[in-house]
Amino acid sequence: MENACKDYYKTNDDKELIEDKTKEKVKIKADKKKIEIIKEREASVCYNSKKNDKGIKCDAESVAGSVSQRACVYCGARVVLNPITDAYHIVHGPIGCASYTWDIRGSLSSGEEVYRNSFSTDLREEDVIFGGEKKLAAAIDEVVANYSPKVIFIYSTCIVGVIGDDVEAVCRKAEEKYSIRVISVKSPGFAGNKSTGYKLACNALIDLMGKKKDENKEKIEGINILGDFNLSGEIWILQKYLKEMGVKVVSKITGDGKTEEIMNAPRAALNIVQCAGSMVYLAKQMEELYDIPFIKVSFLGIEDIKSSLLNIADILGNDEMKRKTKVMLDREEKKISSKLIYYKNRLKGKKAAIYVGGGFKAISLIKQFNELGMETVMVGTQTGKQEDYDIIKSLCNEGTVILDDTNPSELEKFILEKRPDILVGGVKERPLAYKLGVAFCDHNHERKHALSGFEGAENFAEEVDMSINSPVWKLISDAGF
Ligand code: SF4
Repeated sequence: MENACKDYYKTNDDKELIEDKTKEKVKIKADKKKIEIIKEREASVCYNSKKNDKGIKCDAESVAGSVSQRACVYCGARVVLNPITDAYHIVHGPIGCASYTWDIRGSLSSGEEVYRNSFSTDLREEDVIFGGEKKLAAAIDEVVANYSPKVIFIYSTCIVGVIGDDVEAVCRKAEEKYSIRVISVKSPGFAGNKSTGYKLACNALIDLMGKKKDENKEKIEGINILGDFNLSGEIWILQKYLKEMGVKVVSKITGDGKTEEIMNAPRAALNIVQCAGSMVYLAKQMEELYDIPFIKVSFLGIEDIKSSLLNIADILGNDEMKRKTKVMLDREEKKISSKLIYYKNRLKGKKAAIYVGGGFKAISLIKQFNELGMETVMVGTQTGKQEDYDIIKSLCNEGTVILDDTNPSELEKFILEKRPDILVGGVKERPLAYKLGVAFCDHNHERKHALSGFEGAENFAEEVDMSINSPVWKLISDAGF
């Protein structure tokens, strides 16, 4: 390894320069350990302690001055609705807001591809002064003239919230004119945080399904899948299991979703909720409006896959369904068990840090790391609820750092303090991990392979192993970075 490092130095001057820089970096790292937590954030950060549990502040607005990793309201709404494959999305606002498109989400479709387009009213200074309603009506006309939409979602962004366009009136007129659904999503970025956007998206979905139960429509003995966005085809893995179990899927909300099947969702017998952060609100609404009970499920990691599928079979099934489910679970687990043992041997004793969107995903990841013999030393979420943090605390060791709605400087502080071998997060956390010389696993919408189901559990173990045990970390540390 020494030789490999020596190759970097072309001359002795270069060597001295690098050594000086290294000393400087070590000093900077040491200084970073002194990063102070903003006073108003102190209640949202804690070291896990079973004896002295003061609870954690969560499910609240972000603190001004703290660079929250949460996205804006509009973005929260868009990420939930965008995967509906035959829906059209018009972003009423400046062109910059429209940059949040399919391209940075990656949910897959088994049919239509129109959802990969983004439409914008491209509001300019003149529209801000004189109003943008005419431009919005013209944009709807253009989409209808060029395509045959069944549903268009209209997102109001910050500036529309400021100038006060009557978007709902424009939507109503367009619905009358074209006899299609044109649904207003009032989502100016300043109206809250990403969670507010999730709620607005759920309200738009209720609007699409109908706000009242249609007593004339018969129930279907099947389920709605809520909160799977079909990243890398994950919903198809789940559908394969459900098909073998004999469970009918009424609708997928929203990964690989279709307008008509979502409109049929009120007829289902059960809702299963994966992304709890975005979809528990919808599940509760559907329970109230259409009498559909819901359960939370997760298909990340062997323990949660098995308990979730068995739970579905228990609620819906006859004895034959339960038997089929057990046979399938045994078979699928056996298929990957030798590989998981191989990865466990390579990962045993390593430390993990987690910073993800929802609480339920964080809980599954802690269990998944346990299955691989790893310890979670830091865990946080953007939108976790008190009940999620209670479970997180019960699963983690004493002293694990727990954070709600954190910021880059806190992440840096605790990564330097706890020295995890890997950080699991999304696109915003990736550069931080690499800058601090820590392996990274993308568990958000940019991932390119499935991480759920049995095959996903194997992919996850493989990725964690490849990232942690990559030779690059030793090269970097030997070079003093
Ligand atoms: S914060 Fe406002 S301006 Fe920025 S992307 Fe969100 S809606 Fe657009």
